[in-house]
Amino acid sequence: MKPMKLRFAPSPTGFLHVGGARTAIFNLLHARKHGGSMLLRIEDTDVERSRQHHAEQIVSSLQWLGVDWDEGPIYQSDRLDHYIERAEELVLRGRAYRCYCTIEELEAERAAAEASGKQWRYSGRCRESAVAAPATGSRAHVIRFKVEPGPIEFHDLIRGDVHFDAELIDDFVLLRSDGHPTYHLSVVVDDIDMDITLVARGDDHLSNTPKHILLFRAFNGEPPDFAHLPLILGADRKRLSKRTGATSAEEYRDMGILPAALFNFLLLLGWAPGDDRELMTISEARGLFDLSNVNKAPAVFDPEKLLWMNGQYMIKATPDELWPHLQPFLSAEAGTLEELRPIIAMMHTRARTLRDLAEMMKPYMAPDDSLEYDAAAAAKHLKGDDVRQRMDLLHAALASVEPFDITSTEAALRGVAEAEGVGAGKYIHPLRLALTGLGASPPIFDVAVVLGRERTLRRLRRLIDTIGLPASAS
Ligand code: GLU
Repeated sequence: MKPMKLRFAPSPTGFLHVGGARTAIFNLLHARKHGGSMLLRIEDTDVERSRQHHAEQIVSSLQWLGVDWDEGPIYQSDRLDHYIERAEELVLRGRAYRCYCTIEELEAERAAAEASGKQWRYSGRCRESAVAAPATGSRAHVIRFKVEPGPIEFHDLIRGDVHFDAELIDDFVLLRSDGHPTYHLSVVVDDIDMDITLVARGDDHLSNTPKHILLFRAFNGEPPDFAHLPLILGADRKRLSKRTGATSAEEYRDMGILPAALFNFLLLLGWAPGDDRELMTISEARGLFDLSNVNKAPAVFDPEKLLWMNGQYMIKATPDELWPHLQPFLSAEAGTLEELRPIIAMMHTRARTLRDLAEMMKPYMAPDDSLEYDAAAAAKHLKGDDVRQRMDLLHAALASVEPFDITSTEAALRGVAEAEGVGAGKYIHPLRLALTGLGASPPIFDVAVVLGRERTLRRLRRLIDTIGLPASAS
């Protein structure tokens, strides 16, 4: 028996779609569980739509996501001569033929079929007149596969037994007049040459599979096993598309989703580990996932759930783990990990995305004299004649407290409040405004310690100086 080998075979006509990313993940995990391997093949024979930069983006998105592979990337565009050879071989063996029908002739056939209410299928006109000899002159032609009638049956790991009737399939094109193969030819030739034993792909390809099985048979190749993955639907229950949100892995990366969270989320689109667990690392999933446990029913892509899951990953990650992913969201002058580690440690449990985290970190990284005060919070917490005096007292207390840690700064503030006979809130809220510019923040003594004594005092002094000034001066 051949060793198990799967492949992920994206067409580089755009970014890595989340559906494609899920297909890659499912292929990888199935291969890993069964000790098989996975190959990456770039299906770039459609010259009109394929782009090299899309191929490169797909490769880098897969790497970002944590999908690895054992062989490739192999580019189909490097194998064009080979597809021509294999098509010619089928012509010589009488399993395919040259078709000289012009576009106009085919259009006329189609129009006639439609006029009589029938669905058009190529009449097979050139089949009879076909000669196996190489084409003469430069007359344009395609090579078509000769579809023989009969049942086509295969077992799908997800859908069970599938039956098709070859009657319904017309003599499809293998090689175009410009010498480029159709998807059907290149995919089957490659799956044979590359010893693929299991093809797992989106079920939009289900109707192509009978054609492929006929081709495998024509090449005397054993068809691989198949697994057709259920569709991914958007929140509107229609096929996932731009209408309802982002569809590429890159867009989620740019939104500030962690790769491990997206991996985990996509893994659960159509599969569940069989217990209540939702959060799962790649290495845990490696031992559990199996294509035969994938659901037949379409999966719904719920962006809210992705945000929740990302938040869970943000909570679990250490600042050092977050750093390489967070850095692209920070400005170049933001600082080093050494400098920012305490701010990240204070904020990472509060953000659902890296982008949110970077935004939330801003007040703490900003120069002390550049904070803007939230107008509503300022109106609420800076009113009354004695705020300035209270903040002066607090400033003095924080200037001398030792050590400048969470416990001592809190004790210092509470001590001043008690001595003045007012609630601690009268100090805490203005202090928060002074240190963050905001009405809400992490526990304020954490904030003070993260900023350090010097910056805390500087920020507090600046607030004191603005109290009582007209709003525009603050
Ligand atoms: N290249 C095809 C696509 O991107 C997939 C082909 C396959 O997996 O057989 O849809």
